[in-house]
Amino acid sequence: MKPSTSPRINHAIEVAKKAHEGQFRKTGEPYIVHPLAVKKILEEWGMDEDTIIAGILHDTIEDTSLTLEDIKKEFGESVAFLVDGVTKLSTARNGMRDIDTYLPATKDNFLRLMIALGDDIRVLIIKLADRLHNLRTLSALPPDKQKKIAKETLEVFAPLADRLNMGLLRVEMADLSFKYVDPKRFNELKKLIEKYNKSAEKSLAKIEEEVSKALKKEKIKFTISGRVKSVYSLHKKLAKHNQNMGEIYDLTALRIIVEDVTDCYLVLGIIHSLYTPMNGRIKDYIAMPKQNGYQSLHTTVITKDKRIVEFQIRTKEMHEYAERGLAASFYYNEQKLTENYKKGKIEHLPTNLLWITELQMTAARLREGKKVDLRKLKLNLFADKIFVYTPKGDIIDLPKGALPLDFAYRLHSEIGDHVVGVKINGKMSNLNKKLEHGDIVEILTSKNQTPKPSWLDRIITPHARTKLLHALHPSTRPETPTKKKHHKHA
Ligand code: MN
Repeated sequence: MKPSTSPRINHAIEVAKKAHEGQFRKTGEPYIVHPLAVKKILEEWGMDEDTIIAGILHDTIEDTSLTLEDIKKEFGESVAFLVDGVTKLSTARNGMRDIDTYLPATKDNFLRLMIALGDDIRVLIIKLADRLHNLRTLSALPPDKQKKIAKETLEVFAPLADRLNMGLLRVEMADLSFKYVDPKRFNELKKLIEKYNKSAEKSLAKIEEEVSKALKKEKIKFTISGRVKSVYSLHKKLAKHNQNMGEIYDLTALRIIVEDVTDCYLVLGIIHSLYTPMNGRIKDYIAMPKQNGYQSLHTTVITKDKRIVEFQIRTKEMHEYAERGLAASFYYNEQKLTENYKKGKIEHLPTNLLWITELQMTAARLREGKKVDLRKLKLNLFADKIFVYTPKGDIIDLPKGALPLDFAYRLHSEIGDHVVGVKINGKMSNLNKKLEHGDIVEILTSKNQTPKPSWLDRIITPHARTKLLHALHPSTRPETPTKKKHHKHA
């Protein structure tokens, strides 16, 4: 973990202490306890110094006499920018719960949220740390406020943590909130999980021992541990399966962390040689990552004493990313990322987080005062992504419902501008065909082809639309009859 002190950080603590002097939390503690707790969370997530300082100062603009100018003068542009973003977000907070309804007031707040978000994703990470600490201390608030904050967290913040693949955060937020939203159900399910774990304890220990022995024999370096399902995810899963506990196979899972991808598949093979894999329960999220970038192998097996156990197998890096998500990327690429943020570029984000680029583009449009369809915005944030492949196996992520031209423009505008046809999974198809998760897409082009206005109806991504409009409008190229000459693009 990063050192928690530096002259700048210590100075920020002094400034925040002075600013919040005489203020108290609902828990009765001096207010400074809260910003310091946020600081600690951000450190645990491995965030950079500016983010940590902004975390310490995050409530000063809203609640104290300190101004943005003061912060800029003392700590620089970047910290001031982050604090300003968090302040805007917290103004938007009340409206966020009603995103679905698009009330006029909500729209304004949501707009502010998007603008803040689009500028720097670290604003959101500070907000998540802020929310986490407020949840941890929620018991101090009156019951109606508890419910409101908890519900908002389940609807907005926990899904966002999931979108950023911050698994630990998602689980903690969801369980803390669920306890307030539906205390009876929470306790019921918590007891159920505990009871199950207790009954499974002995046989799990035996399985762990068997597997460890087999892996050692193959000289594989590994760690193995049990993972307990969170209450809220069990609740959601039961709802999906008509409350039938018999269909929940991953109540307890064993997690095996290894050195590299080859070992992941090796371990999978060894487990399948020890126990009988259940039909249709092998999931290769390494070859086909989840939409949030999560990678792991999952398999559910039936042991010799007829117990059903799920195994999750992944590398250290995948595990780190699964637990800390975007924050982990910051940790590894911090320099590169912060440099690029300063330059206003974020192309070094992992490809599975390209949706952030889309957010930034939208935010830029909003700032320019251009009209933005908020319904589409919401879609970009929360809707499912699909992953499709080039014939060479490169993974391209697109929003659900994307069409071949979206894919073509994602590859390159030169390819998009010259599309004459598309092959999906090796078969000729057409440009109106919605792409499906896992499709292999081959774009056929001709250098004589030119972009057509009618294509505007055959794209759904803002990226492709921008490229196509650019090709259509400033262009003076005449529309020449197309000579069909197919070139293959991988
Ligand atoms: Mn706060």
